[in-house]
Amino acid sequence: MNRIALFGYPLEYSLSPAMHNAAFRALGLNEWSYEIRPTSPGDLTVSVRDFFRAGGVAANVTIPHKQAIIKCVDELTETARLIGAVNTLSLRNARLIGDNTDGIGFMQALFDANVDPRGMSVVLFGAGGSARAVAFALASHQIRALTILNRHETRAERLARDLQKNFRGLTLDVAGADALARAQLIVNATPVGMAPGVDQSPFVNDMVVPRGAVVYDLIYHPSETKLLKTARAAGAFTLGGLGMLVHQGVAAFELWTGRAAPLEVMQRAVREADESNA
Ligand code: NAP
Repeated sequence: MNRIALFGYPLEYSLSPAMHNAAFRALGLNEWSYEIRPTSPGDLTVSVRDFFRAGGVAANVTIPHKQAIIKCVDELTETARLIGAVNTLSLRNARLIGDNTDGIGFMQALFDANVDPRGMSVVLFGAGGSARAVAFALASHQIRALTILNRHETRAERLARDLQKNFRGLTLDVAGADALARAQLIVNATPVGMAPGVDQSPFVNDMVVPRGAVVYDLIYHPSETKLLKTARAAGAFTLGGLGMLVHQGVAAFELWTGRAAPLEVMQRAVREADESNA
């Protein structure tokens, strides 16, 4: 059996098992299976090691482990090294390789919605694992300016420094909440607003969404967060996290199996699992 696990915490709303298991079935890959492994930070190293020792072949890693997992891998791909975060693990010649498909997934969902971020001023909430993938993906697609707003500012500063080394022409800021008023793209890469905390929003007090902005929330449960409701009411174009989930999953699936992923099967499985979660 080719077992794949998802390590993260919390995982009760994860749609990844439904998405990947539907894809395996659709391609007749009956010896493949995908399971969740709710894992707290203190247990990550042992849990991942035990899974691979017991014959696991690959894994996904999600909140809050995308940076901490780096110490468990033998090698990072160029993408994961640049981003400084890992969401996908696979074995190559008995070595554990850390990769990152979040940036690809984020961009593909943006392109599916016909949004080209080139030249845009962007505000990003968060500086964790997925925020790093989003920031590097946007920077490599020639955005003009990026303001990173994070609860712990030092983490935002670290991300800004890492970006500046690679994208010298990018205008970066870590404190300017006033950038929101000029933002053309606003991205939430924090869990604020995720179930069960659905009454929360990364927007505080009198923050206003500029009319015509694109507001993209990586959260997919609920499919429309409080942030997206506020943004839609203010006339913004909104995008939830389901598209990204599917596209980062497609990239991981192809890496693991070497087969073209059945995109529509995965989209349908995610939609159905999401409806039954609601
Ligand atoms: P992470 O590495 O643990 O980072 C979490 C980030 O959120 C950090 O910047 C953290 O700030 C901030 N944060 C956490 N709790 C907060 C709070 N109560 N108030 C304000 N800020 C808070 O997690 P991650 O893997 O990047 O995941 C972040 C979110 O993206 C999750 O909701 C996850 O489900 C979602 N996501 C979705 C997809 C998708 O495919 N749709 C893919 C990846 C991630 P500090 O640095 O100050 O702690």
